[in-house]
Amino acid sequence: MIIRVSDIQEDGLAVEDAAAVGAPYADPAWQVEGLSLRLERDAQDVLVHGEIRATVPQVCSRCLEPFSARVRAGVDVRLVPRPAAADNVELAADDLDVDFYRNDEVDLDALIETETTLALPMKPLCRDDCLGLCPVCGGNRNVTACACATRATDPRLAGLQNLGERLSP
Ligand SMILES: [Zn+2]
Ligand SMILES: [Zn+2]
Repeated sequence: MIIRVSDIQEDGLAVEDAAAVGAPYADPAWQVEGLSLRLERDAQDVLVHGEIRATVPQVCSRCLEPFSARVRAGVDVRLVPRPAAADNVELAADDLDVDFYRNDEVDLDALIETETTLALPMKPLCRDDCLGLCPVCGGNRNVTACACATRATDPRLAGLQNLGERLSP
């Protein structure tokens, strides 16, 4: 979906219809579930803020099973016009959420793809209490409770236990 900057009125432009956006992602398995974006002009710049909700196929970092992750991406971006000549414009370090538009056009698909990618979890989990794989037999503990002897407590769980003790009064 392309939005013309000159079409954005004084009171801004709302994009709240996932159907109107269609399929913004290169990978058709990624899907917009809903969005609520507002575009406003600030002199030459365009401010985009709001939220994107999407489902993105991920692989669980514990049990290695594929699942559909629900992603909620908060958007707060300033788009500045890309200078015609210079391709090597440097942004200041504090301009992390600054991007470019060109030719009076905001490429909303590209923005949605970028913001969704940034919101993906570093360590995706199919569910918060995923039991993961058995370190002995490699079985998925969510599916079968195997009878392998588990020796010491999992060091990650021990860490959580310590944390729990420190947090409790
Ligand atoms: Zn899992
Ligand atoms: Zn096992």
